[in-house]
Amino acid sequence: AKALGRGRYHIFDSTMHVAAINILELETELHRAIKQEELVVYYQPIVVLNTGKIVGFEALVRWQHPTRGLISPQSFIPIAEEIGLIIPLGNWVLSQSCHQLRKWQRENRVDDSFFISVNLSTRQLTQLDLVKYVDKILDETEISPQCLKLEITESALMENPPVAIEILQSLRRRGIQLGIDDFGTGYSSLSYLHYFPLDTLKIDQSFVKQIDERSTDLGLVPVIINIAEILKMSVIAEGIETVTQFKQLVALNCQFGQGYLFSPPLAGEEAIKLMLSNEYQ
Ligand code: C2E
Ligand code: CA
Ligand code: CA
Ligand code: CA
Repeated sequence: AKALGRGRYHIFDSTMHVAAINILELETELHRAIKQEELVVYYQPIVVLNTGKIVGFEALVRWQHPTRGLISPQSFIPIAEEIGLIIPLGNWVLSQSCHQLRKWQRENRVDDSFFISVNLSTRQLTQLDLVKYVDKILDETEISPQCLKLEITESALMENPPVAIEILQSLRRRGIQLGIDDFGTGYSSLSYLHYFPLDTLKIDQSFVKQIDERSTDLGLVPVIINIAEILKMSVIAEGIETVTQFKQLVALNCQFGQGYLFSPPLAGEEAIKLMLSNEYQ
């Protein structure tokens, strides 16, 4: 369905009609989900590629729907973004992840070098209130800002660069780490990139998928790693699924990685247990 704005959809034919109704249904249900705590945060390990050590987790939200089961963020984040629900949803993920990290710190299961990386949406990056909310959560949890990392997609940065730069600078001043997500999939001009205060660059999984057994062509991955080096950013490759991809990335000096080869996103307790049983710790 083609969205026209809040709650209004073009209905072209009978199949579209069904799609429109489902989206409206999903909207209503999403409001309920946030109120009734049907959302849950999963954690995917981020590892140092040449040692295998788990240094942090990326927080990825899921919707534990009472009848439809576990729903992927890909099917509700875009809707939440469109209807403005992404602000409370995003705030909830941030709060949940920081409280979880604090709990693990108190239990002495992680030290101060371990970080949680939380995704920010385009809309969150257009409101200065974001910084106030981050302050509130840091205050509440007393986690050190260095333990929090925020991931911003290339397209979110380019939506309104001056505002994004202002928000990122405020976050950076607090010591929060900032990363660009899905790098290479948006339309940012390379000459613009150095205006954003960013610490890490995440290579989108579509580029990692280009590395395969059957060919020696590494696609754009070496180029992207070079760009990160020139901009003095550390690099994380996401979506690593094969040993070939892993080995090639190590050979290219890519420091960090994430993917099913190491672990899928896991529920909190499972994730921390995996982290603690990791033989490379
Ligand atoms: P993303 O930020 O690019 O997250 C990476 C996605 O790749 C995750 O999908 C993760 O489960 C998946 N992934 C990790 N390793 C592999 C792999 O080896 N192979 C493959 N094929 N996939 C892998 P997920 O959890 O379904 O999330 C999808 C997207 O939804 C995220 O993409 C992000 O854009 C968005 N999202 C998830 N949680 C949040 C959130 O709390 N806030 C916001 N704003 N967006 C979120
Ligand atoms: Ca991400
Ligand atoms: Ca990504
Ligand atoms: Ca992505």
